[in-house]
Amino acid sequence: MTQPDLSPAGRTSSGLVAGTAGTTVIERSAWDIALKQYDRAADKLNLGPAVREVLRHPKREMTVHFPVQLDDGSTRVFTGYRVWHNVTRGPAKGGIRFHPQTGIAEVRALAMWMTWKCACVKIPYGGAKGGVTCDPKSLSLRELERLTRRFTTELGDMIGPDSDIPAPDVNTNAQVMAWMMDTYSMHRGYSVPGVVTGKPVSIGGSEGRSEATGRGTVYTVQEAAKALDLEINGSRVAVQGFGNAGGGAARFMGELGAKVIAVSDSKGGVFDPEGLDLALVTRHKQETGSVVDAPRTRPVSNEELLELDCDVLIPAALESVITERNAPRIQARIVAEAANGPTTPEADDLLRSRGIFVIPDVLCNAGGVTVSYFEWVQDREEFFWSIDEINARLRRVMVRAFEDVHRTSIEHDVDMRLAAYMLAVSRVAEATLTRGIYP
Ligand code: NAD
Repeated sequence: MTQPDLSPAGRTSSGLVAGTAGTTVIERSAWDIALKQYDRAADKLNLGPAVREVLRHPKREMTVHFPVQLDDGSTRVFTGYRVWHNVTRGPAKGGIRFHPQTGIAEVRALAMWMTWKCACVKIPYGGAKGGVTCDPKSLSLRELERLTRRFTTELGDMIGPDSDIPAPDVNTNAQVMAWMMDTYSMHRGYSVPGVVTGKPVSIGGSEGRSEATGRGTVYTVQEAAKALDLEINGSRVAVQGFGNAGGGAARFMGELGAKVIAVSDSKGGVFDPEGLDLALVTRHKQETGSVVDAPRTRPVSNEELLELDCDVLIPAALESVITERNAPRIQARIVAEAANGPTTPEADDLLRSRGIFVIPDVLCNAGGVTVSYFEWVQDREEFFWSIDEINARLRRVMVRAFEDVHRTSIEHDVDMRLAAYMLAVSRVAEATLTRGIYP
C-alpha cells in the first residue's frame, strides 16, 4: 500500500491531527462531533429521555476482517464496516467508502448523519454507512473487484433491497456498485438490482444519479442565494474535492454563470481569480489523475482554498476541514456542505457569529440519496423515468426541504444546521414513539 494521504487538516483514523510545527494534538472523532450536533437538537427539542437515548445509539454495527488475493499471488487481510444507525423510518441507506483512514468511528458518524439526512428531505429510509480501510489507488482494477466482491459477501446477511441498500461514496463509483449488485445477485440466483443504488444505467441504475449530489447542492445554493439577495451569475465559487459531489457542483455552478475560481483534490488545488476553464481542468484530471498543474492555473493548497475571497465555498471532500482554527478566516458568504461533516460545531458557532450562511450537509448533499431513492423505486417497479422527470422531482424535494429548514431557522432563531436537525430528529423521534418500544 502507498502511504495514506492525510486530509487537509492532517486527519488520521486514530483522531490524531498533525500540528503545524511538528506537534500533535488530539482532535475528536467524527462520532463525537455527530453526537454533539445531535445533543444540541435534542436539548432544543426537549426530547424525552427514552427516545433521546435510543437515537444516541447505532442500532447495528458489523466489523469484518477478510482476505483478498493480490495480483502477485500474496494475500492481504482488509477490515470493513457496516453500521446501521436507525431503521425506524425505512430500510438502512448509505454509501460505501474506500479510504486508508476510514474506521468504525467515522462510519458510525456517517451512518447517523444519513438518518438525519433522509428525515430532513422526507425520504423513507433509515441511516447507514459502510467502508473498507484501504487505499484503492494502490490496488489494480482486478484487486479492487475481488475486494468489493468479498466485502459484499461478508455483508451478506445485512444488505438487501428491503433491509439495507448501499450506494457510492468516497473512492467508490458505479462500477463498484455493479460488482456489489452482481455478487449479491449471484448468491440469490437471480438479479436483484434494488440491492444497491448508483449503479450503471445498463443494469437498472437511474438517469441523473451520478450527478444528483452536485445538482442537489446547487439547487440549495440557488435557494440560499435568493434568501441572501446574492446574484449567482458572476459570483465566485471555490470547491474543495473535485470528485463526484464537488465536480458536479462546480459544473452546475458554472452553467448558472458563476465563476469557479478554485478546485482541489487530495494532491492539491488550482486557482484562477478570473474563473477556471473547467473543461480544461477536467481533461487534465482525466489524463494525470489530479487537477494539480492544470494548464493556465496557479497552484493553491487545500488549506488556502478554504480561505479564498469568494461568495460560495463548497467543501466536497472529507470531514472536519472547517474548524475553529480557520473559521475566523473564511471569507465566503455561503458555505454549501456537499461533503458530510466538513464543519465542526465550534466552527459552526464562529461562522454564525460572522454572518456566514451554512447550508448543512444533511440538507445540502441530500440530492444523492434522493435520486438513490428514485432509483430504488424504479427498480422495484421495473419502470424507468426520464431524466427530465427525475431532475424536476429532485428540484421539488430539495426546494421544499430548504424552505422547511429555512422557515424553522427563522422561527426558532437558530442556524440552518440546528434547524435541519430539529426537523429531522423530531421526525425520527415521532416515528420511534409511534412504533413504540418492542416488545
Ligand atoms: P469522490 O471519491 O468521488 O471524490 C472525492 C474528492 O475529494 C476527490 O477529488 C479526492 O481527490 C478529493 N479528496 C480526497 N481527500 C482529500 C483531501 N484530503 N483534501 C482535498 N480533497 C480530497 O467522493 P464523493 O462521492 O464526491 O464524496 C465526497 C464527499 O461528498 C464525501 O464527504 C461524501 O460523503 C459526500 N457525499 C457524496 C455523495 C455521493 O453521491 N457520492 C452523496 C452525499 C455526500
